[in-house]
Amino acid sequence: MAAAHKVVVKKAELSWLDRLYVVSVAKGMGITFAHFLKQIATPTRKRYTIQYPDMKKEMPKGYRGLHELKRFEDGAIKCVACFMCQEACPARCISIEAEEFSELTYTQGFEEKRPAKFKIDMLRCIYCGMCEEACPKDAIWLRNDYELAAYDRLSMAFGKWDLINTYADQDGKATLTAETESPTTPRRTVAL
Ligand code: SF4
Ligand code: SF4
Repeated sequence: MAAAHKVVVKKAELSWLDRLYVVSVAKGMGITFAHFLKQIATPTRKRYTIQYPDMKKEMPKGYRGLHELKRFEDGAIKCVACFMCQEACPARCISIEAEEFSELTYTQGFEEKRPAKFKIDMLRCIYCGMCEEACPKDAIWLRNDYELAAYDRLSMAFGKWDLINTYADQDGKATLTAETESPTTPRRTVAL
């Protein structure tokens, strides 16, 4: 076996001028000032600084923001509680409880299950999009919306109705509730 080669790394010595830090500070201020002038010369809509919350940043296509459980045109939710997203989630922040569902008048008609409960802990989510990728029904999307704040941890656990309804107004959809959701025949929850 070859002998280990020892490398001595010399510590860089600072000159008296370096130790004054005047040059470094001046360089830094120069960069800041250059950005300042550039911002002033740039039209408002193209500036880096956004007057949030009066102005909102337009996120690029494919941005992975907050989640939504999607619905069909008739209002029925697309999710069939297959647990694929829960399995795919690397942060283990999705938990689903399924229930039997056989209401044939709805678009998805012949599905046997749907989520009775669907929870995402947004504090643990890393917005990787794996749930969206794993879903065979195109039922969970990560939207372009990014505003998320709460005063306590519990409020950051989004339930089924949050995931369905949070953007209902914005998208011109009716709000769905346990009462307006189609009935199940019979209602029976399936253990995780
Ligand atoms: S975006 Fe990633 S971390 Fe967040 S719920 Fe989906 S799979 Fe889990
Ligand atoms: S959102 Fe998609 S992957 Fe997750 S349980 Fe529902 S159908 Fe399955």
